[in-house]
Amino acid sequence: MKRKAMYYRNEEDTTLVCELCPKYCVLTDGALGGCRARKNLGGILMATNYALATGLSLDRIEKKPLYHYYPGSRILSLGPNSCNLQCSFCQNYQISQMHAATQEISPEFLRDVIAQHCAEALQVAFTYTEPLTWYEYILDFARENPEVRIVLVTNGYINPRPLAELLPHVSAMNIDLKAMSESFYASECRGHLEPVLENIRACVAAGVHLELTFLLIPGLNDAPSELMAMRDFIAELNPELPLHVSAYHRIIR
Ligand code: SF4
Repeated sequence: MKRKAMYYRNEEDTTLVCELCPKYCVLTDGALGGCRARKNLGGILMATNYALATGLSLDRIEKKPLYHYYPGSRILSLGPNSCNLQCSFCQNYQISQMHAATQEISPEFLRDVIAQHCAEALQVAFTYTEPLTWYEYILDFARENPEVRIVLVTNGYINPRPLAELLPHVSAMNIDLKAMSESFYASECRGHLEPVLENIRACVAAGVHLELTFLLIPGLNDAPSELMAMRDFIAELNPELPLHVSAYHRIIR
């Protein structure tokens, strides 16, 4: 299944610029975006991994992690083989940064699987890698199935307009706040901090159930000044906002 992508603009000839996330990839004809989810085919941007999932599992919601959202419930979970950040410490790099086996799960089939396995709570988590690079698939599914609660486990790296279009369909999110320094985001993730902070603010303002996750990496993002900046940022937004601190495991690649 392939679908025309949303949020891009045409430049001269067949070159185009993807506007889904702050990377703004410039793509000549035939080029693949930095996330490997979007490709320029003859001047049209296509969502080439539409409905292609790296995994499909039934998890406890606490595994997302969401500790304050229907605790004890089960949630169908799946993710794409793509990501728009390139974190040096990625704990999932085999499926986020490299080609991995996928299976096609159409929105209709996904709805059937949710009904079959989560009958007591119709809910689905787009997770494991970066669901925002699956934008059209998630939006199509959400629009067609408003009775299903949509959960995103995400890096929060998306532009404001596509986020605003998606948010009314989202029930809960866990956003990775990877650090509080721009230099960390630039050097370790090849991204920027401010869009993530802005999107966290937008999610809070939209009333989406939100929890944050922070992967503490000794020596890289654990300076006391940075931890205090994170505390202050969260306290200013909502002192009740849950923050999950995850343990880092060194990955030998
Ligand atoms: S979503 Fe992908 S193709 Fe689009 S700007 Fe971001 S990394 Fe590039």
